[in-house]
This record gives sequence, structure tokens and C-alpha cells, in this order.
Amino acid sequence: MADPERMRNVARHVAKTKAEGHQLVIVVSAMGKATDNLLDLARQVSSVPSGREMDMLLTTGERISMSLLCMALQDLSVEAMSFTGSQVGIITDTVHGRAKILEIKGDRVREAVGEGKVAVVAGFQGISTAKEITTLGRGGSDTTAVALAAALKADVCEIYTDVPGVFTADPRTVPQARKLEHLEYDEMLEMAGAGSKVLALRSVEFARNHDVPMHVRSSFTWEPGTWITSEERKGATNMEEPIISGVVHDASDAKITVLGVPDQPGVSAALFEPLAAANVNVDMIVQNTSTAGTTDISFTLPKTDIAAAQPIVEKVSRQVGAKGVTHDTNIAKISLVGAGMKSSPGIAAKMFRVLADNKVNIEMISTSTIRISVVVAAPMLEKAVRSLHTAFGLDSGSDYSAPLPERK
Ligand code: ASP
Ligand code: MG
Repeated sequence: MADPERMRNVARHVAKTKAEGHQLVIVVSAMGKATDNLLDLARQVSSVPSGREMDMLLTTGERISMSLLCMALQDLSVEAMSFTGSQVGIITDTVHGRAKILEIKGDRVREAVGEGKVAVVAGFQGISTAKEITTLGRGGSDTTAVALAAALKADVCEIYTDVPGVFTADPRTVPQARKLEHLEYDEMLEMAGAGSKVLALRSVEFARNHDVPMHVRSSFTWEPGTWITSEERKGATNMEEPIISGVVHDASDAKITVLGVPDQPGVSAALFEPLAAANVNVDMIVQNTSTAGTTDISFTLPKTDIAAAQPIVEKVSRQVGAKGVTHDTNIAKISLVGAGMKSSPGIAAKMFRVLADNKVNIEMISTSTIRISVVVAAPMLEKAVRSLHTAFGLDSGSDYSAPLPERK
């Protein structure tokens, strides 16, 4: 809902869907860059804004959206009423900036819908057990929507966004990418964890835990998008369906290596405990086999966490008598995700063969039951993703041509 024109488009779509006989609760996010602009404003008046006041500020973005959307709906003769998170009774814990939803009362929303109105709810916010306004973390409107859908026992939670759904790869990197019709929760969770930005990870977790079917759709074309449901709802898998659902990449991580670490009990704990305490988000970890009593430990972390991590790692390195610390910000993580992997051996071998044939060196490897991730040098990213997409039978046969939003 970047501007008034888009807002009116949304209102028209809501009016049309209501006219089809549906009862609707709409969760709105802030307009365009509104949240970023508010964050900017805060930084201009304070170097350490308090969590409480920050949440008071940030929740205004969604308040603007909800009231404007109601006005636009009323203009189309649709009865609509807006509610803040606290009015809806979205009760959270007391952690400002990344609160967790504990409970949703929802009485006022049920009442409004019962009276035939469209309820419009401000996303990304709630009220804490200490009666303070809280926010749910960036992208939190997705989580509000899923949580509300669960609480109201809705048939579906539709997420309207700036892309037509979830793709087999990022079409800006792989023109042959195609839109997926259906994914299981676990696949979407792995994709979100591997770097897909379409949905906030927590919203998918919530949907899985409460079995809320999600439908990710475009707010530009309104065409059917990608369904995300349980395996049961997805139904019998088509024999022809590819084993791999997507190739996800993430160029936002860096790699830190501690060289010549003494190979003895307690060293990894000494390294990763202070990193965890500093909220550094460590992802892959690789420890080499030791030669002559020492080993190298490498791990990946968001580039934005390097400044916090570097001094900690250097200190620990000195304390345990390691030989030194290096870091590399020029890496990319590439992941294959697919529930079909569970019943299909040899996927990792094939992935490594494809990369080898394309002269892409693998620096790190990690796996889950339905994901294989590798770290490669950043300049290899495009070649690696495209060749894997082709090798695993995901190419659509024609280049994707619809306009796409800027990279986030
Ligand atoms: N407006 C909030 C943000 O930008 C929440 C959301 O967009 O979902 O993070
Ligand atoms: Mg958003």
C-alpha cells in the first residue's frame, strides 16, 4: 500500500471479495518506506532510543494505513472499522522491538465481522502483559495476519505482496524461475531460513503450529499465487513433481575463520557462548579434522553482525592460543530445498557434481532432512544457482518477464 492509488486498489479488491460472500479481516502493514522513515527520525533525535518509545513511534505507521484503508472502503460503500493491535487484544510478552504473541482475544474483531463490517487491523503490534505497546519485529504484519487467522479459525490467510508468489529461485537471478503452486510449511520454513524474503519466518512457524493455510499472492495482479499448507492438505504428490522445490540464495552472510585452534574440549563453547550472548546470529559451522593437535573453525554470520563478532572472536582466539582470525565477506550461500529429498537419495551428490562441472568450489556444506546448503565465492553465485536450477529440472522454458520489485 505504497501510495493512495495503491490503497484504493486494495480497497477495490477487498470490496470485490466481500461481495463474493466472504467475511473478511484485513491486516495492514505500513505504507511503503514508512517504517524505515520512522526509524530514521528516531536516530536523528537520539543515539539510543528506548524500546518503549520506539514501539510507540513505529506502530503509528500501521495506524496510518488502517485508517486510510477504512476511509477508502467506506468510499466504496463497504462498512469498515479499524483497530489497533491493543484494541484487538493481541497480547504479547514485554520484549520491545521483537515481542512474541502470547494470546489473541479478538472480541472486537468478531463483533465487527458479525455486524457485517470489514475489520481492518494494524499489523506488527500488540499490547504487552505489562500494558505497554509492543512491536513484533520487522515484517511482523505477516505474523499478525497468521496469528489472527488462527485465533478466528479463518479458512485461509492470504498474504498480498509485491511478487506473484514463491518462486523456484529469485527470478532476478534466474530468469527461468517459475512460480510454485504449492509448498509444505517445512519447505517454506527452510526457504525463509535459507534467505527467501517473501514471508517472515515467524509467520510460517505460526501457520505450521496452528495449521493455517497460507496463500501468497500479488497485490498488483491479484492472480492466484502460492499455497503453503501441511503435507496432508497438499495431498498426494504428483509422480512427475520435481524432488527439489527451489534453489534459494543468500549473499548477506560473511564467513569468519579461527586458525590453528587447539583441539581440546571446551574451545567451541568458549567461542560460541560469548557470540550467542552478544546476539550474533551464527548459521553454518565447520570444524576441520585436527592435524598436529590444532584445527580451523569456520562459521557464517550476517555481514551486519561482523562488527559485533570480530572483537569477541579475536579475544577468544588469544585466550585459547589460536593462530589468528580471518574473515571473508565475499561469499554466497546456495540452498536446495525440497520435501522430496527425504525419499530420494543422491541429491547432495548430484548437487556437488553440477557445481564441480561448472568449476564452482564449495567452501562449506550443511544439511537438514529437506535442505542442502553450500557456501561458495560470491562471484560464482549466478552460475551456481542457474546451473542447479536447470540440472534439477526447474526451468520454466521461458524467461520471466513481468516487472519485479527492487531487491530488498
Ligand atoms: N511495517 C513493519 C516493517 O516494515 C511491519 C511489516 O511490514 O510487516 O517491518
Ligand atoms: Mg512488510
